[in-house]
Amino acid sequence: MENRIGLKSGEFLVKEVEAREVFIPEEFNEEQQMIAQTCRDFLNAEVIPNIDNTEKQDRELMKSLLKKSGELGLMGISVPEEFGGFGQSFVTQMLAAETIGAGYSFSVAFMAHCGIGTLPILYYGTYEQRQKYVTRLATGELLGAYCLTEPGAGSDANSGKTNARLSEDGTHYILNGQKMWITNAGFADIQTVFAKIGNDRVLSAFIVEKDFPGVVIGPDEHKMGIKGSSTAQIFYNDVKVPVENLLGKPGEGFRIALSILHMGRIKLGANVLGAAKKAINDSVQYANERKQFGVLISTFGAIKHKLAEQVIRTFAVESAIYRVSKDIDNLIEKYKSEGCDKGRASIDGISHYAVEAAILKVYGSEMLDFVIDEAVQIHGGMGYSAEMAVEKGYRDSRINRIFEGTNEINRLLVVDTAMKRAMKGDFDLFGEAAKIAQDLDLLSAGKPTGNLDYYSEKLQVVKNFKKIALLTIQGASKQFDKKLGQEQEVLNNISDIITEVYIAESLALRVQKIEALKGASAVSLYRDILDVYVYDAAGKIAKKAHDAVYSFAAPEDAEKLAKAVDILSAVKGVNSKDARRRIADKLIADNVYKF
Ligand SMILES: Cc1cc2nc3c(=O)[nH]c(=O)nc-3n(C[C@H](O)[C@H](O)[C@H](O)COP(=O)(O)OP(=O)(O)OC[C@H]3O[C@@H](n4cnc5c(N)ncnc54)[C@H](O)[C@@H]3O)c2cc1C
Repeated sequence: MENRIGLKSGEFLVKEVEAREVFIPEEFNEEQQMIAQTCRDFLNAEVIPNIDNTEKQDRELMKSLLKKSGELGLMGISVPEEFGGFGQSFVTQMLAAETIGAGYSFSVAFMAHCGIGTLPILYYGTYEQRQKYVTRLATGELLGAYCLTEPGAGSDANSGKTNARLSEDGTHYILNGQKMWITNAGFADIQTVFAKIGNDRVLSAFIVEKDFPGVVIGPDEHKMGIKGSSTAQIFYNDVKVPVENLLGKPGEGFRIALSILHMGRIKLGANVLGAAKKAINDSVQYANERKQFGVLISTFGAIKHKLAEQVIRTFAVESAIYRVSKDIDNLIEKYKSEGCDKGRASIDGISHYAVEAAILKVYGSEMLDFVIDEAVQIHGGMGYSAEMAVEKGYRDSRINRIFEGTNEINRLLVVDTAMKRAMKGDFDLFGEAAKIAQDLDLLSAGKPTGNLDYYSEKLQVVKNFKKIALLTIQGASKQFDKKLGQEQEVLNNISDIITEVYIAESLALRVQKIEALKGASAVSLYRDILDVYVYDAAGKIAKKAHDAVYSFAAPEDAEKLAKAVDILSAVKGVNSKDARRRIADKLIADNVYKF
């Protein structure tokens, strides 16, 4: 497919793209599939057989698994060749992240090392810092950690107290403070530590080696899940950090921290996809073995409903993940062609798509929680047994809604970032919203007519969903003005609508493109997935929009707006029972996720 620059972040709210312009997983090339297979082989050979042992919080075992993955080259996927890696595209990085996502706590340790543990230095380090550290992080010779959170500074990350004072002779900073909840703390050799220099109000970033005198690592926390991943506090007691280990410029730390979090969020979206596919496989295989009332439980409609819904949500997330990944790749290539350094081009390309990163973090983590919860339910009592993989998956899933910015923070970010980008001039959110608000009485013109072809009708429905998003943004902004930030409940409603828009549109474009590539006979089940998804999304969007409208509008306006929402969220009826049964039947016949 062509490498044209995609829409700007958030622009999907006001602009459409054609199916041929989006990348879909069905287009992975041979090399990408080989890399995914290598990751899968490694998980099956080394990680899965050892996973119960890692649960005993054995730091040495997790460390040795990480080292082995490094020896195999898996830690160099995101790192350019000149710094010891393989410089793979962002799509490939995401495919690797997805595959590793099936590896329970190993996945968290691996992703923390390869992402937040390595990339701050790759993206913001000097040539010397990259040569000294990244080349060895890319092979697993060194292991990395990212130290932002403190006891008093979680979501409010810039409020940390860790301090760096420049020594009188100007040769080093003296670091004092405490970090907590640090992934890989137990064995990481290199830490990116965020601290304020002197009386600064903003953070700076430092590369700290674990063996610098004064670095003290606490014992591992006792956690609900991801028990194999080392999470601990780190204390810094008069640690001398050479000035050459300042990362980026003084005061640039918060920007570095946020950019790295955008990257972490979007990769978490890929990670949870791998975990969800694993949970689906466990679910269907159990349902195909377990008999009750003389038949396999996979023959029951209630179980088929669960299996199908697991597939629908997973497939939908996948569509959005790879759509935005390719948009990111295209933007990175553009920045590089304009002369930007490779590392900077990568992080700027990823950070640009902050709206989509937050969407995928929230939607992906909640998708996995749903999928694994249903996996436990399909297992009945056995799902509650610590012997079963789904029990571990259930506990491990929960953290995804908390780290890389909680889902509360990310929901707010979806709306806030889209509005800020629009105000900056990236796209005309408010102009389009005002037009729709003015035309409230004419809104029924956008209602699906029934005369459109299948995809035009679906995309028209999505376009109507966008109008609902714009109506609520416009109404809430007008009502609350500068105090909109204090109306988090309304912002959450709007955020969820925007999220459904992006996921539904990505899914529709993917199915349309599969049909263009493989023909109509190849997509009947994909059309079922799309039908059910859009039908359900319409109900969810209508509910969220009603909640928002009745919260911000005066009663007489609220009724008018609610009516507009009803018109715009109208969709053709779908026999969702039959559609879900067909989806489940394929899964049951394959006995493994093959969509
Ligand atoms: C297993 C694990 C691994 C981790 N790994 C790392 C790591 O490697 N490096 C690192 O630096 N950190 C790490 N963290 C920390 C993690 O990023 C934080 O826990 C997270 O950012 C939330 O901060 P907090 O725990 O202080 O919660 P708080 O910020 O205290 O939040 C408590 C609740 O209040 C909500 N809340 C907070 N502010 C707002 C607001 N403005 N509006 C609405 N709601 C709000 C939150 O959403 C949450 O529901 C890890 C945490 C865990 C549990």
